[in-house]
Amino acid sequence: MTDSLLSVSDLTVSYGKVTALKGIDIDVKSGETIGVIGPNGAGKSTLVDAISGFLDYEGSITYRGQEIAGSSTQTLVENGLFYCTERRDLFGQMSVEQNLRLGSYLNNGGEDERLAEVFELFPRLEERRSQEAESLSGGEQQMLSLGRGLMSDPDFLILDEPSIGLAPVVLEDISEALTAITELDVTVLLCEQNITFALEHADRLYLLENGAVRRSGATESLQSDEFVESYIGG
Ligand code: ATP
Repeated sequence: MTDSLLSVSDLTVSYGKVTALKGIDIDVKSGETIGVIGPNGAGKSTLVDAISGFLDYEGSITYRGQEIAGSSTQTLVENGLFYCTERRDLFGQMSVEQNLRLGSYLNNGGEDERLAEVFELFPRLEERRSQEAESLSGGEQQMLSLGRGLMSDPDFLILDEPSIGLAPVVLEDISEALTAITELDVTVLLCEQNITFALEHADRLYLLENGAVRRSGATESLQSDEFVESYIGG
């Protein structure tokens, strides 16, 4: 497909003798929100770690038509790709504002404007702008991780399990923010075990199981798929 922003083709990733991804294909077009769902150990984090340049792989991963193998994080961020990891990777003893400003380290202008936008999206972060990141609640840390991603002015945001460990009321805040982010025309790859959350946001879904794509298609059409339903039910 010519208008793919990201194209994953026959991707295989192994950790020693464990093959975590077994020749998978995934395609992401500009402006889409793609959900990658599946149980523990399905290979979701391995997929996004490979896309973000953290793992060696066989097969092909192209971003804007270029193979990403060997690309540094800096190069990927310069090209508009930002990865919010499941670990969140915050600097615990730095303030909320310092963590956010670190997200824009590649940009020369517009930092204050973007900070204002992040604070508009997450007023709670503005209230706590001088507080150390490690003293934030889990939900606030997730907001900070997302906010820092937005500070890089991304075209393509990869989110690994943003809902993990969050109380329903906090999840609602993250969900609203994600809706606002997708309305800004940011392309999103969302890895989720929380299938309800993924169904709510994704235009298309890939269901991974044991390192293989078991189902893929438009979210609406997959909602009535028996195999997917068995996951939703679970
Ligand atoms: P979860 O939602 O639990 O994080 P996941 O879908 O993200 O699961 P991965 O973390 O990608 O799954 O793991 C895929 C498979 O690869 C699993 O079988 C896991 O045990 C294995 N694996 C992941 N990381 C390593 C590693 N560093 N060394 C060896 N095996 C690994």
